Amino acid sequence: MATYDYDLFVIGAGSGGVRAARVSAAHGAKVAIAEEYRVGGTCVIRGCVPKKLLVYGAHFAEDLKDASRFGWDVPEPCEFHWNRLRDNVLADVDRLNKAYTNTLESHGVEIINSRATIAGPHEVALAGGRTVTAKVILIAVGARPHVPQCPGHEYGITSNEAFHLPELPRRILIAGAGYIANEFAGIFNEFGTKVTLINRSDVILRGYDESIRDRLLQISIMKGIDFRFHAEFRGIEKGEDGCLTVSMTNHEPITVDCVLFATGRVPNSGGLTLENAGVEVDDKGAIKVDAYNRSTCDSIYAVGDVTNRVQLTPVAIREGQAFADTVFGDKPTTVDYGCIPSAVFSHPPMAGVGMTEGEAKEKLGAVKVYTSDFRAMKNVLAERNERALYKMVCDAADNRVVGLHMIGPDAPEILQAAAVAVKAGLTKDAFDQTVALHPSMAEELVLLK
Ligand code: NDP
Repeated sequence: MATYDYDLFVIGAGSGGVRAARVSAAHGAKVAIAEEYRVGGTCVIRGCVPKKLLVYGAHFAEDLKDASRFGWDVPEPCEFHWNRLRDNVLADVDRLNKAYTNTLESHGVEIINSRATIAGPHEVALAGGRTVTAKVILIAVGARPHVPQCPGHEYGITSNEAFHLPELPRRILIAGAGYIANEFAGIFNEFGTKVTLINRSDVILRGYDESIRDRLLQISIMKGIDFRFHAEFRGIEKGEDGCLTVSMTNHEPITVDCVLFATGRVPNSGGLTLENAGVEVDDKGAIKVDAYNRSTCDSIYAVGDVTNRVQLTPVAIREGQAFADTVFGDKPTTVDYGCIPSAVFSHPPMAGVGMTEGEAKEKLGAVKVYTSDFRAMKNVLAERNERALYKMVCDAADNRVVGLHMIGPDAPEILQAAAVAVKAGLTKDAFDQTVALHPSMAEELVLLK
């Protein structure tokens, strides 16, 4: 029988890879994990975690503005120090990086700080010419920002660099209108940067419910964010003063201090020499896998963004867990991709689960839609003209809730709990039978008309 250096070799120590490595080790496997950058991956190092901390920092701008209505005088001028927030956030990222490293080590996983590529069905090549063998290889290398290859694109940054900016830009242009674009637009706008968001179509946050994204667009414009639609990137020119002039279709050029590309993320499969083991990718570069995360090579699996199924951290974690339980836990497990809740940490945030109204009409035909369009109590006292919108989409046949979509303060916190009910297939009646928790925003969910 063949012997290998490891039972499992994981390439990439992000959310999916770390979970898979840790659980496989707990199931008794001898595991190594290779990471060329830092343990933690996109979410922890340059994604969800630092982004959410910046969102918290940005919220203070609104609270400080509203403070006097609540009886608090904030001394003027009230200054924001980007460098302080940035450094504190990066220090927290360091803390988490260490915590992830400790978790792996305490489970006996060997961490190899190196780029790793596929040398064969059971072989991994490491930097420096070393090759190791493993019974099973898991590829969990994630995705990277896609940057349109226009002239001068090298002057722009991506979300990777946004967390390290030496100073707060006075003016920023954000390309794209998806998650990252809208989240950073909100963050920079609250910090006082002049934000212009440009997109090739006129749709923001494609895939989210139309009424909810319309509300975000309306509030974002009210807050001072400029949107330019049908604006395809033509190029960036750098002036002698360091300013960047961006040209685009259908609009006048615009001069800014920083250009942020938020135009999607692509699987990080390039350069892995997958062909050495017959691992196939699709036309977007995503590794093709079956329901058990197995690639077209029997001994190689893949989880997370590199498979481009659902680009969300908790999904990658579930896939990593399912892989470990299937391959090393003697418990074949697949991930249920139905009713995955998601959120955009914009200002205000939005969140959704299940089908949008449009999707439900297309799939089910007859649907019933219940909404609540209201101003949160806090916003009323603050004289903040910002309305929340909750929408419940039900199957007209049995009143089962098939979609729930929200925009307003704390929408992601509220939706996570409500998503349990949607996933469980509860009806509108079940919501109505639940007594409201008053006064709260969430009570609107059981009072929808
Ligand atoms: P998204 O897919 O959300 O949005 C991409 C945007 O870029 C769209 O507006 C799209 O326009 C536009 N675009 C795509 N390709 C091009 C191109 N070639 N030229 C010009 N514009 C283009 O991507 P993000 O980069 O914002 O985020 C990547 C992924 O990361 C998300 O899909 C999400 O899964 C995940 N993420 C999740 C977060 C969360 O859970 N809160 C936060 C951040 C990221 P159009 O719509 O017209 O195609």
